[in-house]
Parts: sequence; structure tokens; C-alpha cells
Amino acid sequence: MSTAFYWDERTMWHAGGNYAFTVPLGGLVQPLAAGGLPESPETKRRLKNLMDVTELTGDLAVMRAPAATQAQLQLVHPSEYLNAFKEMSDNGGGEIGHHAPFAQGGYELAALSAGLAVAAVEGVLTGTHDNAYALTRPPGHHCVADGPMGFCLLANIAIAIEAAKATRPDLRVAVLDWDVHHGNGTEAIFYDRADVLTLSFHQEGNYPLDTGDLADRGTGAGAGYNLNLPLPAGAGHTAYLHAIDRVATPAIEAYKPDLIIVACGYDAGAVDPLDRMLATADTFRQMTLKIKALAQRICDGKLVLCHEGGYSEIYVPFCGHATLEALSGSDITAPDPMKRALTSRQPGPRFDAFLRGEIDHMAGELGL
Ligand code: ZN
Repeated sequence: MSTAFYWDERTMWHAGGNYAFTVPLGGLVQPLAAGGLPESPETKRRLKNLMDVTELTGDLAVMRAPAATQAQLQLVHPSEYLNAFKEMSDNGGGEIGHHAPFAQGGYELAALSAGLAVAAVEGVLTGTHDNAYALTRPPGHHCVADGPMGFCLLANIAIAIEAAKATRPDLRVAVLDWDVHHGNGTEAIFYDRADVLTLSFHQEGNYPLDTGDLADRGTGAGAGYNLNLPLPAGAGHTAYLHAIDRVATPAIEAYKPDLIIVACGYDAGAVDPLDRMLATADTFRQMTLKIKALAQRICDGKLVLCHEGGYSEIYVPFCGHATLEALSGSDITAPDPMKRALTSRQPGPRFDAFLRGEIDHMAGELGL
């Protein structure tokens, strides 16, 4: 059993600007002393730091990877966007689209992040490792083919899938996105295709405001191969595990993929500043164990997790550590320092029963 962990310190050097948290600077908005966007390097670097301190890193195959090539990026993104991104990146940085700024050299760092996803998928498909985790930064799941969105500059997972399919045209991939925001970019890129199943759990009414509806099922050849599970604010540990059992598991089992990829955001965590969900580190551990067992049943264990959002500098590391413990089977643990407080904040039995009912109802609507 081996789990690969792909990361590169340089991806932590990606920097945005001109925002105070999610609010553009200007007018009455004072710049923050501690930096700009919530998508800060520390939310991710501190996960690697914690893994080094506990020595979990020593139980993993720590890997680097080359940047995704221009040819690989073009499998998803048109040259018009890539050229505009590269030119702005070479000339001091800036912003194309909204909530996705980058500094000088941002293009190369985004390509490096995509390269980590490409290599993680390739390493699992070739059997070099049983499963893999890519600490991708900047993240990718909001990025659409022709432009960036929501801190995402390149569609990391979609690029990794297309790079793998370039030599394996029959490859079937299921993408489960448990980031608290809708995986609109991944959905849009594969919306009319049956060879990639896209499934997103997200908080309803969160970013992006106009996507992620239960009724959005795909189009043309892709009809039925996109599933959205918009969850009410306040969903916690029990609801997330029920969603895995009642929706993700039967949908992915029926699809019979060759590979499962998880868009692994931690922003459903109970202290995340960008949402109102109540997942804990143990929620991510249990979700990972369930999807790992599913992968072992249906696709020879082939499973890749790509890091997406998660904006609590204190809590993301513990959620990520629990996820990597589960993925690798390591017995090195990092006890959740917020467990007592967050367990006491879980939804009560009445709201949990309501949430389970909502999930069962939506599963029915999705034909599951
Ligand atoms: Zn997110």
C-alpha cells in the first residue's frame, strides 16, 4: 500500500492582490495588514508543516512534478486565454475575470499546480502508487475553459483527466467534489460528455450564486452524467456521511469508473469563514475512508485527491491530516484540537433528521 503526496513549495508563492478578504480594495475598504484573499498560502502550507511535525510525511511517497505543459493546458483551455494569462503574468500580474488575481509569474505557478494533479493521476493509473494526494495551489474547480474564477486560474482536475485520456481514450473518470462551493468549472467542462461523471456537494446559495442546481444533469451525450447535491447551510458530520452513502456511493458504483478523483476542499469545515457548514476533521476522515473503500470495490483502489478550497488557517491542517491518515492507512495521527467545541456545535437530532430527509428526497430526484 503506498500513497503519494505531490506538493511544491513554489506553489505557495502564488500571490494575488487588490483584495481585502473577498472584497475588492477601494472606497471605504482598508487593506488588510495580514494580506488579501482568503486563499492564502498558509491555509495549505500549514497542512504540510503539520504532516512534517507528526512525521506523517514519512509514511507517504513525497513527490514533485514538472509544470503542466502548454500542450496539456490546451487540452482544456483555449490559447486565447492562456496567451492573455501568460502575457499579464510576464508583465507584473493582474486579474482576468473576477476573484482570481495573480502576481508576476503566476502563470508558471498555476501550471505547476496543474502539473501536480497531472502527475498524481498518471502515477495512480500506471500503478506506481495505489492512491495519491495533490496539494494543488492555486485551486482549480471554479475555472472554466475560457477563463479563471474564484481563486482558480487553471482547471487542474480537468487538465489531469484530459492528459490521462490523451493516451487512454476509453478512460472513465468519476469526480466527486466535496468542496463547499459548487464545482462549476469541472461541471461546465464535462457537461456534454458521458466519459466523465461529475458530482458536486455544496452549500446551496453559496458561490457561484447561479450554478449548482439539482436539476442541472448534463446535456447531449452528457445527460445524466452531472449530479449536484445542494445542501442547506448547517449540514454537519451526519449529513455529509449520509450524502456519501445515499448519493455519491450509488452514483459512482453505477457509473463504474476506472478512476475516482475527489475535489478535496475543506471549506465545509465548521470554522471556515466562507460558508456555514459544520463538518469536522473526522468528517473528512470518514468521507475519505468511505470513498477509498468504494474505489477498492470498483476500480482497483484508484483514487486521487486534489486540494481545492478551505480557508481556516488553524483548522484546514487538521482536516487535511485526517484525510491523509485515512487515504494512506497511516497510524500517525494529529488529534483534532477543536473536536470538543465542534462536536457540541453539530446539528441537533431534529435538524439532522430534516437534512437526511432532504438528501433522501434529492437522491430520489436524481434517480438513486
Ligand atoms: Zn470552496
